[in-house]
Amino acid sequence: MIPSFINIGERTNVSGSAKFRNLIIEEDFEGALQIARQQADSGAQILDINMDEGMLDSEAAMVRFLRLIAAEPDICRIPVMIDSSKWSVIEAGLQNVQGKSIANSISLKEGEPIFLKQAALVRRYGAAVVVMAFDEGGQAETVERKVAICARSYRLLTEKVCFPPEDIIFDPNIFAVATGIEEHNDYAMAFIEATKKIKAELPHAYVSGGVSNISFSFRGNETVRAAMHSVFLYHAIQAGMDMGIVNAGQLPIYSEISGNLKGRIEDVFFNRRDDATERLLELAAEQRGKLSTTSKTDLSWRKSDASARLQYALVHGISDFIVDDTEEARLSAERSLNVIEGPLMDGMNEVGDLFGAGKMFLPQVVKSARVMKKAVAHLVPFMEGDKTKGVAAKAGKIVMATVKGDVHDIGKNIVSVVLQCNNYEVVDLGVMVPCIDILDTAKKERADIIGLSGLITPSLEEMRVVAKEMTRSGVTAPLLIGGATTSRVHTAVKIATNFDGPTIYVADASKAVGVVSNLLSSAKRDAFLSSTATDYEGIRSRHESSSRKSSKQTLVKARSNKFRIDWSRYKPPKPKHSGEHVFKNYDLTVIAKYIDWSPFFQSWELAGKFPKILSDAVVGAAARDLYADAQAMLERIINEGWLNARAVIGIWPANTVEDEDVVVFEDVDRTIEKARLHMLRQQMSRDRERANYALADFVAPLESGVGDYIGGFVVTTGHGCEEAAARYERENDDYNAIMIKALADRLAEAFAERVHELVRTELWGYDPGESLDNDSLIMEHYSGIRPAPGYPACPDHTEKQTLFSLLNAERNTGVTLTDNFAMWPAASVCGIYFSHPESHYFGIGKIERDQVLAYSARKGIKLVEAERWLASMLNYDADQPPDKPAFF
Ligand code: SAH
Repeated sequence: MIPSFINIGERTNVSGSAKFRNLIIEEDFEGALQIARQQADSGAQILDINMDEGMLDSEAAMVRFLRLIAAEPDICRIPVMIDSSKWSVIEAGLQNVQGKSIANSISLKEGEPIFLKQAALVRRYGAAVVVMAFDEGGQAETVERKVAICARSYRLLTEKVCFPPEDIIFDPNIFAVATGIEEHNDYAMAFIEATKKIKAELPHAYVSGGVSNISFSFRGNETVRAAMHSVFLYHAIQAGMDMGIVNAGQLPIYSEISGNLKGRIEDVFFNRRDDATERLLELAAEQRGKLSTTSKTDLSWRKSDASARLQYALVHGISDFIVDDTEEARLSAERSLNVIEGPLMDGMNEVGDLFGAGKMFLPQVVKSARVMKKAVAHLVPFMEGDKTKGVAAKAGKIVMATVKGDVHDIGKNIVSVVLQCNNYEVVDLGVMVPCIDILDTAKKERADIIGLSGLITPSLEEMRVVAKEMTRSGVTAPLLIGGATTSRVHTAVKIATNFDGPTIYVADASKAVGVVSNLLSSAKRDAFLSSTATDYEGIRSRHESSSRKSSKQTLVKARSNKFRIDWSRYKPPKPKHSGEHVFKNYDLTVIAKYIDWSPFFQSWELAGKFPKILSDAVVGAAARDLYADAQAMLERIINEGWLNARAVIGIWPANTVEDEDVVVFEDVDRTIEKARLHMLRQQMSRDRERANYALADFVAPLESGVGDYIGGFVVTTGHGCEEAAARYERENDDYNAIMIKALADRLAEAFAERVHELVRTELWGYDPGESLDNDSLIMEHYSGIRPAPGYPACPDHTEKQTLFSLLNAERNTGVTLTDNFAMWPAASVCGIYFSHPESHYFGIGKIERDQVLAYSARKGIKLVEAERWLASMLNYDADQPPDKPAFF
């Protein structure tokens, strides 16, 4: 298994990109930001920023650009690498960057004292650091010197300035090869060998490099350069290279580079023959423009033999001919099993490698898996007749489940497919799986690993319970944790501490295979476990000290800084149609127009904004195929009525009471209380420039005498989804089974958007003239909000109960709530409508015990109950006995 590779975006570099340089020199920072955004959108995972240019005040440019980036949520979500050969620029950058950054670079070039001083500063600024393999004697060119300098730097950093080793990134210098100078012939190999040694000898440190240097001699011949980069990365990543500054968009797939070109490049990289450079130059002259990816209509691959065709079909995810090809291979094989163990496994291994190297993406892998499953399904009946029964030995067995009370499984299903592709056996227990079933199955199946998934916050608690029960019942198989609300911190702090065996957080499907293969490899397991244990120990101690430090204030004080609206000057809009409205079998054609496609690509782990993602250099081709498949299915969903859209909304007289609660009234005179919605208030220390918000602040208080309103909604497009997914699963078609769920989710959000629009323009009608296109709707350019229980402004999922009973939602929409207040069917959305023009989303953040006590009293539930549902928000350890309630 090849570990996943981190792309560092290189376009925001004045010396690498003429376009960026001109924008910066002309002070067109808006234009420069666009380049950064394009990098982030197209999948760069780190942004390298370099302002080293003679005409510039580099420090000022760096500072200005970093500050601008910090205000752009879609850019600053990825970390910045502050790149300069001048320390003063790096330091200015470190002082102005938001979040954790990487200083690029420091080295021993000017001796130890300066190196250590700079390193200590980087550490103080909380950044990671790139260390170049330079010392007082200059740049390191040989393996020995590269490794020696890195090892010396490592010792100095970790021993003298306590630099965390996981924050060290070595750049052992990629130099140009095929330059005609003999001494340069070993440069590629020197990097690769040095990488291997650094990774083996310097624990936790990373290796990076600027890849395009390698092909410097082939300037002007982009085809050959791109092929060289791809081949170089193929080998360097296997050697352990973790990240690199690359123009990822232009990399061809390794396996699709012609054997001849690949061979000659490898001859050069591995210095295999004296005439290697000449032979590559020769070929380069012929090669211009010849590297293109395969097209669907190109059926030339059909001419090769059955094994080669099987492998091709797997790598390209083509299932059209798979049964015939499998049959042909079977007829010429001694046993059916040989077909699986031979060409099919070879194909899947190639898929795994390409995926690990970032050259294939999840939708493509899931399609390959479909080809594999169909082939195996064809072979199984014949294998029963084989003398030797049984299928090829599996690499390990994983029991997976979405925990009790949770219904979301798209991510889990993708992980399961990816693991199966890598020859692991997966026992998938589905959704809403009680703890006892997970444990029993793990024991019965002798699971090597248990994987828990969940999307809503109550699942975090549920996972902790499962971890505890595993310990109690003596299950020691490693526990994998994944899903939207899970995190490394939560896993380290709350789950790992409750389980005797190893607990590992898996950030996304692309990480799963790496983690599982580490856990199941006797050679790698111990090192992996000990590095994870150290890692998590560090997270726990940092978490503990940061929660001690976190600035908080009492609820009373937070209330005194609430968001104040001058109600005497405000007349809340009176609904045109108050009460409830039900939508049955709403037109899916209309709903489809409101789809926000970007999250659809995210659910398949393709990064980027729609529609730009379709023309993205890296993931564009994968995105286009995925989108075409989605459109085709959407058409069938609509034409054949696979899904049924239902919704209910309500708008009622309402006022805020007791600071954070909103009372919903039967009548406009506000005498009969119908229900009470309970909200929470932010409790972080504020400088008074910003308020401590509660959603209730957006509704007029009862004592103001102003008659206000609030609304609520439940929408679903999930009826019919399970049946459609099950049909696909029966046909061994995980790709489409996942697709229908992802589309149903999109339609549900789109329906919520559509209904909200109807509420603003007609039903509540406070904005009858509103006319926004879909982009503006997605960007929320309208007045009012629809916060959803369980989301940051109203994190308590149990509030859905009140909303559901107000709306009679179960009867009106057929949506039900699970034990932990997830909605079933999963493709459902609910929320509360606020109309005030100043209403907006925010996050409650951490809350204190005084508020939890007040909240539980208002809600009429026990403190422990409130603590259970708010567990992930508590700023104190709820397992401790409560302090005396001295807060009031
Ligand atoms: N276009 C998106 C819309 C859904 S995400 C899509 O199709 O996926 C945005 C929704 O999440 C909002 O409408 C709101 O219901 C909820 N939301 C976002 N931030 C929130 C917050 N801070 N508090 C409460 N709800 C929030």
